[in-house]
Amino acid sequence: MTMNSTGRSTTPASGEANMTTTVSGSRGLLQAEGLIFEIGSADKTGVDLPEPRYLGKERGRGDRLGGVDRSASTGLPGLSEPEMMRHYVRLSQKNYAIDLGLFPLGSCTMKHNPRLNERMARLPGFADIHPMQPQATVQGALELIDELAGWLMKLTNMPAVAMSPKAGAHGELCGMLAIRAALLARGEPHRKRVLVPASAHGTNPATAVQCGFIVDEIDAGPDGKVHMAHLKEKLADSSDIAGIMLTNPNTCGLFEKDIVEIAKLIHAAGGYFYCDGANFNAIVGRVRPGDLGVDAMHINLHKTFSTPHGGGGPGSGPTVLSKALAPFAPVPFVVKTADGYKLVEHEGAGEAQESFGRMCAFHGQMGMFVRALTYMLSHGADGLRQVAEDAVLNANYLQAKLKGEMSPAFSGYCMHEALFSDAFLKGTEIETIDIAKGLIDEGYHPMTTYFPLVIHGAMLIEPTETESKAELDRFIDALSSVARRARQKDPSLKTAPHLAPVKRLDETRAARSPRLRWTPETPAMKAAE
Ligand SMILES: *Cc1c(COP(=O)(O)O)cnc(C)c1O
Repeated sequence: MTMNSTGRSTTPASGEANMTTTVSGSRGLLQAEGLIFEIGSADKTGVDLPEPRYLGKERGRGDRLGGVDRSASTGLPGLSEPEMMRHYVRLSQKNYAIDLGLFPLGSCTMKHNPRLNERMARLPGFADIHPMQPQATVQGALELIDELAGWLMKLTNMPAVAMSPKAGAHGELCGMLAIRAALLARGEPHRKRVLVPASAHGTNPATAVQCGFIVDEIDAGPDGKVHMAHLKEKLADSSDIAGIMLTNPNTCGLFEKDIVEIAKLIHAAGGYFYCDGANFNAIVGRVRPGDLGVDAMHINLHKTFSTPHGGGGPGSGPTVLSKALAPFAPVPFVVKTADGYKLVEHEGAGEAQESFGRMCAFHGQMGMFVRALTYMLSHGADGLRQVAEDAVLNANYLQAKLKGEMSPAFSGYCMHEALFSDAFLKGTEIETIDIAKGLIDEGYHPMTTYFPLVIHGAMLIEPTETESKAELDRFIDALSSVARRARQKDPSLKTAPHLAPVKRLDETRAARSPRLRWTPETPAMKAAE
């Protein structure tokens, strides 16, 4: 009998092994659940609405919709209240969540979200206010935004911060628009070339192009960092250089050790230094990007400072700006006056004379601001420093424990995430995707796969500082066992996951031709299955 590290048997009890199907479709207290269109019906509702006044004989008269009211059912499926509750809870059980276990997605920083943050974000003074409320009635909220801005400037040693960007990529857009505005103000619109290392996050080149820049790629060196000779080559003719977009720590999980020299070279070439700071959690409290020569950097509040962000949002990407770029910051921003806090809302006048404009309708993600400041205040300055130290320690522990089973992409220490290549799978026919799917059967959401592109069959694992040693060991045991099975050419990995409610999908087809509209199943479709 095989045992796991806590001494529990990992082989099914006799009789269990063959039990792959059930009459109900449910498995081990997990209820099978159909789509709402399959289980609901148009004549059912969980709410009790009063009869509209104009129905019956009176129809048409006194009709407040001027005769355009609906006469037929919308056809939307209805459920009773308990059915509705169960539907969504059952669906949620098919999901993986940070509250269920370690979530190893690299470059995503899936860390525990302290419940204190949630409590604070729900205080009525923060949760129930409206962005168009008179400013005199939301002084506390404005003060919170200002206080958070102060922490971000202090942590980065930068003189300004734009709070309104609503995600990391939106922050990149903000920083690059500020760079464009600065170049235009200098009378140098021809500076259009932005250098982007091969290991960049995909959002970097996308943002540069979105702002009308031309992307010029710099190679990664054999050590996973920017290839300095190649960079210098690209700067030989610098008359059209707008700047560089560099991720630090980069997506290989490594600190760009030449970053100060890179900043100097870019500035000497007349360009600006955009730093992708999404991985700030690896250096917060230890390194101040302002000291490295950075001109603009977004910070993902939803990564570094917790706040839930599975499933695509919400995010928040405040962008710190250097002295050179600060005048171009977007509106609105908060200023402190003798009469309290004030929002500067219009570009082209007063404090916002040179502002490039607006990133979004209102002021940013208030709920995220409250959560992030709560996180900062509850950790304190020393606690934030420890966040970075523990994030790096955990990633290195994981890398050290797994290096016998898998192939680290680089030798030496990593920062907050550990990167592996598929070299250990050579000759097995097992690929990175099969390792990811095998991990699902072991109870874990897969790590980031096939990214960064500079590493063949990449597997990027970010454990974060919130995992205990016991949780890390548990994950390491699971992943080691999948890696071992792969090296032994276990064919069942090619069809994993076997235990998940949904098996292997044709992901390419799902992305290329998604079925976004439900249509009732026809007998022909049933027969085809
Ligand atoms: C997450 C991430 C981004 C994008 O952030 P979003 O909030 O998803 O838009 C950009 N760069 C890096 C390095 C990231 O890890």
